[in-house]
Amino acid sequence: MRVLVLGAGFGGLELSTRLSEELGDEADVILIDKSDDFIMGFSKLDVMFGRTTAEAVRHSYADVVKPGVRFVQSVIRSIDPDSRSVETDAGRFEGDVLVVALGADLDPSATPGLVEAGHEFYTPAGAFAAAKVLDSFTGGRVIVGVTSTPFKCPPAPSETALMLHDFLVGRGLREASEISLVMPLGSPIPPSPAASEALLVAFAERGITWSPDSLVRSLDGERRVAVLADGRELPFDLFLGVPAHRVPDVVAESGMCVDGWIPVDPLTLETTYPDVYAVGDVTSVGTPKAGVFSERQAGVVADRLIERHRSEAGHATYDGTGLCYIEFGSDRIGRVEVTFRSGQPPVGTFNEPSQELRERKADFGSSRAKRWFGTDWANH
Ligand SMILES: Cc1cc2nc3c(=O)[nH]c(=O)nc-3n(C[C@H](O)[C@H](O)[C@H](O)COP(=O)(O)OP(=O)(O)OC[C@H]3O[C@@H](n4cnc5c(N)ncnc54)[C@H](O)[C@@H]3O)c2cc1C
Repeated sequence: MRVLVLGAGFGGLELSTRLSEELGDEADVILIDKSDDFIMGFSKLDVMFGRTTAEAVRHSYADVVKPGVRFVQSVIRSIDPDSRSVETDAGRFEGDVLVVALGADLDPSATPGLVEAGHEFYTPAGAFAAAKVLDSFTGGRVIVGVTSTPFKCPPAPSETALMLHDFLVGRGLREASEISLVMPLGSPIPPSPAASEALLVAFAERGITWSPDSLVRSLDGERRVAVLADGRELPFDLFLGVPAHRVPDVVAESGMCVDGWIPVDPLTLETTYPDVYAVGDVTSVGTPKAGVFSERQAGVVADRLIERHRSEAGHATYDGTGLCYIEFGSDRIGRVEVTFRSGQPPVGTFNEPSQELRERKADFGSSRAKRWFGTDWANH
């Protein structure tokens, strides 16, 4: 059974690793990604705030050496879900099973003025460029603003505001600065009221202005104001933006999307095409767009494929759960575990921020680096 895995992010890496671990040489996986390397989402914030370097957070795909897995570095140009085949710059590939794990692309140009007058920090290039901007920042009004929904890692803008506070304090610039956080959500982490409350307290203690239920629609570079969806205007000296998200063009052109994302069975991650699965940010499965959800969905698909390889009935199903570490500033990390089940309201638990959880977050990163790339990575 040849498994064609499109995209080597959280989903594609976990799927390929699990199949290799369980099936060894009997796994027949082709894993395709256009990039040279993988960068974890939270590493972008670490680089942006000068905690580490861009080089230190890159995980090279050359290190993906696993029994039964062949990594192909190439751009996927078209996907045919009927024949489970793709055209790439390295030729055509076909699978008995196709798994689409191509994530969400970011489109800063969708927000008028963002490219010209602001800085997006959600792509690696954007976050690394923002690090240079922050390095030469001398204080002023900063907006951390979300421009559209859905967006990856809903806690990330809150973390950014808190990390920015610490950064400015460290540089002696906090007194000369204001921080505003513009978010489309009614609370920072809706499924966990306790986590939301703790974040709102942290914002208040640090003088961070929180604007819920708001989106930034455009930036006026001449007047240096952000225009919100409700018409309000907020002045800024530095705008750090979360850009619009959409599926990669190759996915949009495949005909697999409904309302912009690939619909899947929330329990099995099957698409409407036989033997074609989709996991992670590229889907509309109903969980937030975050690596931990992509990874867990990929684990379920792997388990179902392993069952199939062993001629067992398919039992593995997705439970909608994800565990997320949240930067609270002052070197402390909180943790939420949330569950999204179709037809039920999401629920979440919260662990208060602590130093100990910083070590757990570091373990989260280093354990993935070890399993997926076979490398030792100290990310703190
Ligand atoms: C600032 C920030 C902080 C974050 N923090 C966290 C966090 O703490 N915890 C967490 O769980 N998540 C976090 N995230 C979210 C997380 O990074 C994403 O949700 C996660 O990477 C999604 O995994 P995925 O496998 O669905 O897609 P991705 O990881 O995006 O992988 C998709 C892959 O497809 C490849 N690809 C796309 N198009 C093509 C093509 N045409 N040809 C070939 N290859 C292609 C890409 O190169 C990419 O490697 C954060 C995100 C950001 C931006």
